[in-house]
Amino acid sequence: MNLDLSILEGKYVVRSGPPGCNFCAGVLSETLIKKMERIGIILPQEIAQSSVEGYCMLTKKGELWLTHPLHARKIATVFRGNGPLFSNITKNISFDDFLLREALKMGARVYYKKVSSIELPSKPEEKVLVKTEDETFEADLVVGAFGLNTDFLEKVKRMEFGYKPPKVLKTCQTELKIGSEFVKEKFKDFIFILNIGIKGFRFSAIIPKGEYITITLVGNDDLTFSKMEKFLKEDFMKKLLPDGFSLPHQHCHCLPRIAVTSAKKPFTDRFVIIGDASCSRYYKNGIESALITASLAAETAINLGISEKDFRKGYWRKARKIIIDNFFGRLLFSLNDFIARADFIVESHIRIARSNSFPFKILRNILWNMFTGNIDYWRIFLKSVNPFLLIYMAFSGIRTILDNFFKKKKE
Ligand SMILES: Cc1cc2nc3c(=O)[nH]c(=O)nc-3n(C[C@H](O)[C@H](O)[C@H](O)COP(=O)(O)OP(=O)(O)OC[C@H]3O[C@@H](n4cnc5c(N)ncnc54)[C@H](O)[C@@H]3O)c2cc1C
Repeated sequence: MNLDLSILEGKYVVRSGPPGCNFCAGVLSETLIKKMERIGIILPQEIAQSSVEGYCMLTKKGELWLTHPLHARKIATVFRGNGPLFSNITKNISFDDFLLREALKMGARVYYKKVSSIELPSKPEEKVLVKTEDETFEADLVVGAFGLNTDFLEKVKRMEFGYKPPKVLKTCQTELKIGSEFVKEKFKDFIFILNIGIKGFRFSAIIPKGEYITITLVGNDDLTFSKMEKFLKEDFMKKLLPDGFSLPHQHCHCLPRIAVTSAKKPFTDRFVIIGDASCSRYYKNGIESALITASLAAETAINLGISEKDFRKGYWRKARKIIIDNFFGRLLFSLNDFIARADFIVESHIRIARSNSFPFKILRNILWNMFTGNIDYWRIFLKSVNPFLLIYMAFSGIRTILDNFFKKKKE
């Protein structure tokens, strides 16, 4: 099939800081890297900022280091744009620019132009018009991959074909330059998941990237940067940052949106929406979800057609699997919130996961998959309701309570 594909990108992704960045923690999951390789996209070394050895879960009751079951480094970290604001990076390390260059190699045209409007045809045989400030493009099919951090979402909502964008939350991120030696020594190429059970935070992580670390916070409500400033002053953070660290005057930070629900009807005749603006995995591997929804939309367009009916039958029916799986994702995150706040459960979990007992394997496997997102949430959920594990955890919990009781009595 002879395809003529034009990409319209409103941002110069080779710039550093927010003007060139698509605001994410930049963790490329093992499964995403494999999917990219399958379509001929090999991540170059100069784009990968670190290859991750594993995850370290930090709790109030201790830490747990988890490595890849095959002791391999299959997860990478990247900067979406050309590094943090105020960095003096002279090479091009932008992941998004790398992807655009790959698309160019595969025959696409790339225009650095912001789309101002999309006009849908009044008759099915007519084409769609995509307008920018100075040019109008005519297309058989338009794919909306505009994400959540754009006012274009509202414009598309007003096009009145039934599209409702996902509900979102404002998250908070900052990139701190603390030196490659310190990063290596403290984080050892591990992504830190801070499961401290602090009220108001749903998820917090530290991602090592060369001489920088990226700190990502997701709250129960919209976050502001003052929450990050407060977070950085917590005792557990002081232990992870250089002695006497204080937030430099010039630092890169952002408040990107994350989806908490999926969109309604992200398709119509000759127009389909993919990525975050459509549906993505709950709090996990959004870039991979974008690749999955892009592939589903492309498959539908080529094998079925480009009408609303075709997208409902092909694209949306398959994409709904993500939405159904997110139900289990929410359940698991809620369970984790509860556990993180109950000290005795955290303590008994750490005890099991560090032990050599059989359930430790199940628990480590659950945590590994929860952090990496390597398998569907429903599969993780099934693993976590393993009756053997639950009984063992109940006994371990009782033992922890009794141990603590007698320890206190002795004191
Ligand atoms: C705090 C946080 C941390 C995250 N961490 C990770 C992570 O570590 N790993 C991971 O896989 N996912 C992560 N995600 C999710 C990930 O960022 C998204 O799922 C992913 O970027 C979605 O891709 P997308 O193509 O849908 O949208 P985006 O990546 O947002 O890309 C949208 C593109 O459309 C362009 N655009 C928008 N409007 C217009 C317009 N009018 N005209 C032209 N161009 C336009 C933008 O410039 C941008 O380039 C994170 C998200 C958040 C909020």
